[in-house]
Amino acid sequence: MSAPRLDIDLDKIHHNARTLVERLAVRGISVTGVAKASLGCPAIASAMLRAGVLGLGDSRIENIKTMRDAQVTAPMTLIRSPMLSQVESVVKQADISFNTELDIISQLSSAAQKAKRIHGVILMVELGDLREGIMPGSLERVVRETLRFPNIRLKGIGTNLACRCGVSPDANNMAELSALANSIDATFGPILSIVSGGNSANLEWVLSSTDTGRINNLRLGESILLGREPMHRQAIDGLHTDAITLIAEVIESKLKPSQPWGEIGQSAFGVTPSVSNRGNIFQTILAIGHQDIDPDGLQAPAGIEILGASSDHLIIESGRCLPVGTEISFQLNYSALVRAMTSPFVIKDQANHPCP
Ligand SMILES: *Cc1c(COP(=O)(O)O)cnc(C)c1O
Repeated sequence: MSAPRLDIDLDKIHHNARTLVERLAVRGISVTGVAKASLGCPAIASAMLRAGVLGLGDSRIENIKTMRDAQVTAPMTLIRSPMLSQVESVVKQADISFNTELDIISQLSSAAQKAKRIHGVILMVELGDLREGIMPGSLERVVRETLRFPNIRLKGIGTNLACRCGVSPDANNMAELSALANSIDATFGPILSIVSGGNSANLEWVLSSTDTGRINNLRLGESILLGREPMHRQAIDGLHTDAITLIAEVIESKLKPSQPWGEIGQSAFGVTPSVSNRGNIFQTILAIGHQDIDPDGLQAPAGIEILGASSDHLIIESGRCLPVGTEISFQLNYSALVRAMTSPFVIKDQANHPCP
């Protein structure tokens, strides 16, 4: 089997998705399975759908097209604001998109009229993490305008926390989202069917809260694929954290000094931290690097320590000489996973279901 590769266990992904779907269903909350970290891999998307997610979400319209082209049938939501330059494709490929700008909704409306389609819109609200979102004080005005556009259907509101500034979803900001939903419905009639509370970072609050208010949807990616919540990267009870593993291959293994010698300047990726002198060590090189993974996001097996990386080399201390050709498995965090999925050099392997 070629390396490097991602070993993807679809049964474990299915189990994770199903467990989360069930835990949230009892609270009246549906799950949108987020496919972006898997580049819209149809087999992963199908595993999520079999587990009962309501629909699929992705931040890139290209990934949604990948899933559509592979006959993945599900409601598709673009979870990043569409680019003006992509509105035709968004209307064609996605049923719903997240929006914050009236100029974009206006162009979606024109494109939807031309395509004789209805396009769903979820308005994103800023609640403190300072990424996308309409300021709460402007929401009513934007809703009023959105309702005027032909071929656009306002489906609901949503928010996204924890991604840019690490702001935690909590009782306060979630209550604010519910209050906004109530106020919009009081003004315009019951028009908001979806109140999407956030991403995997919301699980901790949602699952421990007795009152989740109007929130009836979460968009989950990392928790399904990696079995962890993103706020503290703790394993979620009952979920697999090894559904996806990375395998890399040894191309050199030698006893070498632990410290470099010669005059020291910058390395390929900036300054290298100084290392303590531990005499000679077994240094092993794997054929994978910054181009394919985030080295800081890899967890090595017991007895192996990651020492550094360049574009195409990952250097580990292995305690003993490892024959060339040896395969080493790593656990990945979200950052390493996204990069590995995106690298054309990393094979994505799940029995009989090739990812594109
Ligand atoms: C990426 C993303 C998600 C999914 O986040 P996870 O932490 O992987 O669950 C949800 N919503 C939006 C808007 C996103 O960009």
